[in-house]
Amino acid sequence: MGKKITPISELGEFKLIEKLTSNAPKYYSEIIMGIGDDAAVIKSTSENYLLITTDLLTEGIHFNLVYTPLKHLGYKAVAVNLSDIAAMNGTPKYITVSLAVSSKFSVEALEQLYEGIYAACKKYKVELIGGDTSSSLTGMTLSITAIGEVHPHKICYRNGAKLNDLVCVTGNLGASYLGLQLLEREYRLFKDSPEIQPDFSTKEYLLERQLKPEPRFDVLKALSDANITPNAMIDISDGLSSEINHICKASNKGAKIYAHKIPIDAVTAITAEEFNMSPETAAIHGGEDYELLFTTSLDNLNKLLNIPSVSIIGKITDPSEGIHLVLNEGNEIDLSSKGWDAFLPKKEET
Ligand code: ADP
Ligand code: MG
Repeated sequence: MGKKITPISELGEFKLIEKLTSNAPKYYSEIIMGIGDDAAVIKSTSENYLLITTDLLTEGIHFNLVYTPLKHLGYKAVAVNLSDIAAMNGTPKYITVSLAVSSKFSVEALEQLYEGIYAACKKYKVELIGGDTSSSLTGMTLSITAIGEVHPHKICYRNGAKLNDLVCVTGNLGASYLGLQLLEREYRLFKDSPEIQPDFSTKEYLLERQLKPEPRFDVLKALSDANITPNAMIDISDGLSSEINHICKASNKGAKIYAHKIPIDAVTAITAEEFNMSPETAAIHGGEDYELLFTTSLDNLNKLLNIPSVSIIGKITDPSEGIHLVLNEGNEIDLSSKGWDAFLPKKEET
């Protein structure tokens, strides 16, 4: 009998990672967290832990250069990496940038990319310390590694959620996903009739959220000032439903999320309706908001109410209760199954 050939799609991204890494050789006790969180955590000689995280962006999968200015791409590539450092409650310090480019890119185009990279470096005070450059047959691939630090008392893992914790989210959700839908729609129109100019007026906020996301270090500062260290935290790259599953699975807990508590911007809501989608669907399943999802003790309720940009959207429960979205009329939707994804137009695996 021949060896079984398994298509990647049979496993999906997370099971694939699990399969490829479950037998990784292990040597060093200073690795506090390897695979399985937003960043790896290493005990170093300083009093802080070292945080290391990496992300890969591929042309045609993660970005479309027809509507993504290279400067924005550079900025976003850095921002999404720093968001993983933020998710550990850390401070970013250094990045490396690795780049594969085909001959269609000019030197000037790559300088644009680096302008964006440096704009993010300046905004978040991180230094570029290295990388790698190669040619490519198929457009651009960009990989950034971010290195940061965090005090051991301040670190937040995905696995720290406690029973009855409040589930909180920063900012608002769904805007980035709808920004992408708008860009994709205009792109399709443009392919058919290039003379039509796109009109994005009143939708600028959605485009900004898609093209120029910002890691929420401002909220981490506010939480720290209020003496709150979340019990568990993750950044929202793949959508709220996916991230609450990560926290619950890692923490061996369940959760109830209240649909009417999920923060949704007015332009997001209006635009969702235009796409025949409920605003909640966009907010719960749309990705790339790069907001933070965290859990913290009920004791912090009053302090949280005084922090702008934080919404309390649910609570952590016993794992036997599963992970549910509670709708206004009291009905519950299971968020642990993939069922609801059918509501969204097909999304690329990230
Ligand atoms: P995030 O969405 O926060 O970037 P991912 O879902 O990409 O996190 O990754 C989950 C975990 O799996 C992380 O710890 C990451 O470092 C690890 N990981 C992802 N891909 C690989 C790989 N090809 N080899 C080893 N570890 C990986
Ligand atoms: Mg992450």
